[in-house]
Amino acid sequence: MIISMNHGATKEQIDHVCERLQEFGYKAHPIFGEEKVVIGAVGHADRKQQAMESIEAAPGVESVVSISDPFKFVSKEYRQSKSAIKVNGCEIGGSEFIVFAGPCSVESEEQILVTAESVKRAGAQILRGGAFKPRTSPYDFQGLEEEGLKLLQKAKEKTGLAICTEVMSPMEVSLVAEYSDILQVGARNMQNFNLLKRLGKETRPVMLKRGLSSTIKEFLLSAEYIVTSGNPNVFLCERGIRTFETYTRNTLDLSAVPLLEELTHLPVVVDPSHGTGKRSLVPAMARATVACGADGLMIEIHPNPEKAFSDGPQSLRLPQFEQLMKDLQPYIQLWKAERSAAREAALVGKA
Ligand code: PEP
Ligand code: MN
Repeated sequence: MIISMNHGATKEQIDHVCERLQEFGYKAHPIFGEEKVVIGAVGHADRKQQAMESIEAAPGVESVVSISDPFKFVSKEYRQSKSAIKVNGCEIGGSEFIVFAGPCSVESEEQILVTAESVKRAGAQILRGGAFKPRTSPYDFQGLEEEGLKLLQKAKEKTGLAICTEVMSPMEVSLVAEYSDILQVGARNMQNFNLLKRLGKETRPVMLKRGLSSTIKEFLLSAEYIVTSGNPNVFLCERGIRTFETYTRNTLDLSAVPLLEELTHLPVVVDPSHGTGKRSLVPAMARATVACGADGLMIEIHPNPEKAFSDGPQSLRLPQFEQLMKDLQPYIQLWKAERSAAREAALVGKA
């Protein structure tokens, strides 16, 4: 169950609720938000009804909700309406469809600046690019690290685009957070629990990518780690999972999008670049991403994919990306109409 405390609840009231929960056999996880405190209670208490009634009556308690999903704070049971995450003047999970684009790796000043101009011209909102790269082979390019972060910052100064970049280890979180608007957790780190807990201490939004072989339940439990460690600004990225198929790099699980919509209030974006591994398949999967109701898209692009240090075969050329953004417009218009109809229906339902 989740207990929301009143605004201004005192420390004694919070401690009292935690003690009562422990008496009933629960483990209490208080989260101290900017506005108020919520307490997650996890366990298999046999006197649940009695516990709920008792806690509801405790001083300082605003509400108590029972949640049956294994993931609590990220579940739809906890919050019915989608969480919108504010970044640099736009909202992920709001009324705009958000596009992230950029190279797999930041390689040079010219490469990132030329790419950032194209992202801006095309009307996308967020520049992506890896400075710390998780590579399968230790002999492959590992990223420009801090120099790459500085180049991303330069691109932000020139274009005003928000920056999304990957952080691979808890030790690098402070450094990466200094230069970026969104901290990316890559597929290979989805279950790096120390990293997830460390990101819970940040206020910057976190984009959590689905692990190569992770179930949706594992994906949501990883998101729960970040949220329950104190950072509610989390959104998910479906980037394909490993299957027996070899024509594609991964199998893009688009059914995860409507499924996640049923299970969680966290926004969901889709990465058809890693999801297919093939440039020719990206536009169709990008259209499908908009059509299935995702909150945004992440696309890898490069001024010269043949010479890219990583993921060239799946990267769109800049003119291809700009064309794709034009081709997506009718789909995005439908997306917007559907989104505002859904919001109105939700408001009517509440009234
Ligand atoms: C990336 O976004 O460049 C990346 C490494 O993706 P993933 O973690 O999904 O493989
Ligand atoms: Mn990549």
